[in-house]
Amino acid sequence: MTRVYNFSAGPAALPEPVLRQAAEEMLDWQGAGMSVMEMSHRGPEFMSIHAQAQADLRRLLAIPANYKVLFMQGGAIAENAIVPMNMMRGHAGADYIDTGAWSQRSIAEARKYGRINVAASSADTQYTTIPPRERWQLDPQAAYVHICSNETIGGVQYHWTPGVGDVPLVADVSSDILSRPLDVSKYGLLYGGAQKNIGPAGLTIVIVREDLLGKAHPLTPDAFNYALQAEADSMLNTPPTYAIYVAGLVFQWLQAQGGLAAMAERNRAKAALLYDYLDSTAFYRAPVAPDCRSLMNVPFKLHDPALDAAFLKGAEAAGLKQLKGHRIVGGMRASIYNAMPVEGVQALVAYMKDFEQRHG
Ligand SMILES: *Cc1c(COP(=O)(O)O)cnc(C)c1O
Repeated sequence: MTRVYNFSAGPAALPEPVLRQAAEEMLDWQGAGMSVMEMSHRGPEFMSIHAQAQADLRRLLAIPANYKVLFMQGGAIAENAIVPMNMMRGHAGADYIDTGAWSQRSIAEARKYGRINVAASSADTQYTTIPPRERWQLDPQAAYVHICSNETIGGVQYHWTPGVGDVPLVADVSSDILSRPLDVSKYGLLYGGAQKNIGPAGLTIVIVREDLLGKAHPLTPDAFNYALQAEADSMLNTPPTYAIYVAGLVFQWLQAQGGLAAMAERNRAKAALLYDYLDSTAFYRAPVAPDCRSLMNVPFKLHDPALDAAFLKGAEAAGLKQLKGHRIVGGMRASIYNAMPVEGVQALVAYMKDFEQRHG
């Protein structure tokens, strides 16, 4: 068996010890005589897996007691609609910050539910920056202010938490949740799909302040109603049981790594290896402004796009997979989430240096 270094933006690499444990427990979870996939979600075995996963996530992120953790389905794209359905009522609209492809997707969906004010945009820099807070034109009556903490496609990331007064701050954290400590109390709501930095696709994590519950639009489907899901402990419908189980293993793996402060340290070091090299040569180029660069998704370009195909072919042969950039930005993208070991980034940089020597 050969495991490659998988730089996919998502679904993405998982920690190998987690996959091993899941494999060991596949046919018989801890003496239950069945796989987690085969268990009733209301049985004592799965209820314990569910409760443990929730408790571990709370501990990792130090989630305050007045926040609910919901395990939902539909991914971040469903949340783009679920957030306004649950939060817009009684307000004329909401503020959104446009930092690239994923915030635009959120904006387009939210427009179906109310008046959306794009309070700031980094379109003027081709989405290579985060608009500075002093340029945001916020509406104090807005239902909430929405940001995307890490633009998975463009590779820009907030390295600061915006202050937005009494209006709840909502963040799509799909691609950087659990990559670093986060002050949950600064947010009204956080959401993200699991398949980037947590676990398998199918699980969506929502962390919501309790006082924001109970205001959903009457046509909100019950399965997407935060208050009803919170009341039912995310069991209003059948939750994505196996994805929750694997996410729970990832939470335990993160604890064993030293928690989120230790992960942040490792992620900073990994990203620095790659960005330092990119900045040291004219052969490659990292388009994002240095103070806004994502530590999770590193887009880069070869100076000559005619070499892209050869670069990717050689990378594949070297066991460095899924480096092709998103079609809307082109070039390359290395996603280096928690599960990517430093050795993977070292192998990538060594390959890039070698490729430069042969084609520079
Ligand atoms: C991947 C991603 C999405 C889309 O997630 P789905 O699970 O496909 O709905 C939305 N926002 C961000 C920031 C992402 O990285």
